[in-house]
Amino acid sequence: MEPVKNYINGKWVKAKSGKSFRSINPANKNEVVGVVPKSGREDIDQAVKAAREAYESWQLTPAPRRGEILFRAAEILLRKKESFGKLETREMGKILSEALGDVQEAIDMGYYMAGEGRRLSGETVPSELPNKDMKSVRVPMGVFGLITPWNFPVAIPAWKVFPALVCGNTVVFKPSSDTPVCAAKFVEVLAEAGLPKGVLNLVHGSGGEVGEYLVSHPGVDAISFTGSFDTGKHLEAICGAIHRMIVTEMGGKNAIIVMDDANLDLAVEGAIWGGFGTTGQRCTAASRIIVHKKAYKKFIERFKTAGSYLSIGNGLQRETDVGPVINESQFNKVLKYIEIGKKEGAKLILGGKAYRKGSCSKGYFIEPTIFGEVTPEMRIAQEEIFGPVVSAIKAEDLEDAIQIVNHTPYGLSSAIYTQNVNSSAIAERDLETGIVYINASTIGAEIHLPFGGIKHSGYGRKEAGGRGGALDTYSRWKVIYRDFSGQLQKAQIDK
Ligand code: NAP
Repeated sequence: MEPVKNYINGKWVKAKSGKSFRSINPANKNEVVGVVPKSGREDIDQAVKAAREAYESWQLTPAPRRGEILFRAAEILLRKKESFGKLETREMGKILSEALGDVQEAIDMGYYMAGEGRRLSGETVPSELPNKDMKSVRVPMGVFGLITPWNFPVAIPAWKVFPALVCGNTVVFKPSSDTPVCAAKFVEVLAEAGLPKGVLNLVHGSGGEVGEYLVSHPGVDAISFTGSFDTGKHLEAICGAIHRMIVTEMGGKNAIIVMDDANLDLAVEGAIWGGFGTTGQRCTAASRIIVHKKAYKKFIERFKTAGSYLSIGNGLQRETDVGPVINESQFNKVLKYIEIGKKEGAKLILGGKAYRKGSCSKGYFIEPTIFGEVTPEMRIAQEEIFGPVVSAIKAEDLEDAIQIVNHTPYGLSSAIYTQNVNSSAIAERDLETGIVYINASTIGAEIHLPFGGIKHSGYGRKEAGGRGGALDTYSRWKVIYRDFSGQLQKAQIDK
């Protein structure tokens, strides 16, 4: 069991209240992964104060020097990748290979953002007037409050912390209460890499208490949030009322289209890993498979067979394909949606219950579940379930399939399996999601392109790399005009 603390002004400290809570292994409720400070407002006050003070010098630290610290952090993460992966599996439940992939994303982000320290470029453009020049430069926003979910407990903090720091901001980080140990280990890496005190502060505790207080704290300049739509919308309202910049990345109801000309081997594999990978707990998970009516019967047979071979268990065991869901409340929510699906008249094709064989009785395991004959209006086809439940929907043709994909409040990720170049081009153009995959599942973003969704999934394109990605979130433009004519401005304009 890990004793975990807050990290404020370069020191590991307990919560002022002295209270704590436990982080539990979802594969075995009896295993306590960490005992964690249950912080209050006074801990946030201290962290914000430290971040404000550190901002004075951090913003003036040359960006390439800031980047070097991130590079060292990436090197340390790489060295510790295996132990990070195992910790993540114990605390969050995803299978080890996926946990290692999550850590690798953080490593990649560290190297990538380290390089941005030498590329934080703006524009120089010619002036309309002689003897004048003009440019735009990126400047930091100030103190950033970062709030993260549990499903990528190392990668998502890295997606936020690294760009925030390279741009010259200081940070108060409030991680998910389900994965606080992973968050603390991640912050430890940055401290070991040589980050000056106060630049990155970590405060554990409940979202409703410390998270919300952080979002509205007068000492904070901007917020970056990833989590559910309900929480994100609530925080957007708070920030709107106090004119504070907030970036929200939220849920998804992602879909795969399988056309009648699709390579079914690829499509079935994409549906399996998109639907049941990370136990369906990815924001990009493929929870709807929209199948052309001519391919439906064959696809469903093969999807069911492939699903029935999935091995459920503790993610540390090599043979496991599907781990537990994160906690009791999510366990109950997923089972409730399975009941809703049955009541709505969907046909249960596979799974449909909790999985309690052997040692799985100690954890939050649910069978990979497939519903067929789902209609687009059903709640299981509209609402984010965030568990191993996939709905198969029949479509008349490509146009109908695209309409079904677009007909949810979300717009994060979508995919199409087809061998027809024209169908793929139409789908690429008409699918209303931030990310579109062709002949690949809805999952697997790479860090050097922007990441984000539209509609209830977020404002889009504000995370990760690429033009207009994370740097636009974590810096703002300052525009500078310089006149070296020595002439009165009025005289110049009159000419
Ligand atoms: P969540 O319940 O919304 O929580 C996310 C974070 O917000 C946690 O740190 C939580 O703290 C905190 N929080 C909760 N209520 C708060 C409040 N009133 N004020 C401030 N902070 C508050 O979401 P989750 O269950 O952790 O994560 C799953 C969701 O995240 C899914 O909807 C998934 O699709 C989405 N997600 C989106 C992306 C993306 O990039 N679009 C990526 C990953 C996940 P506590 O843990 O202490 O409650």
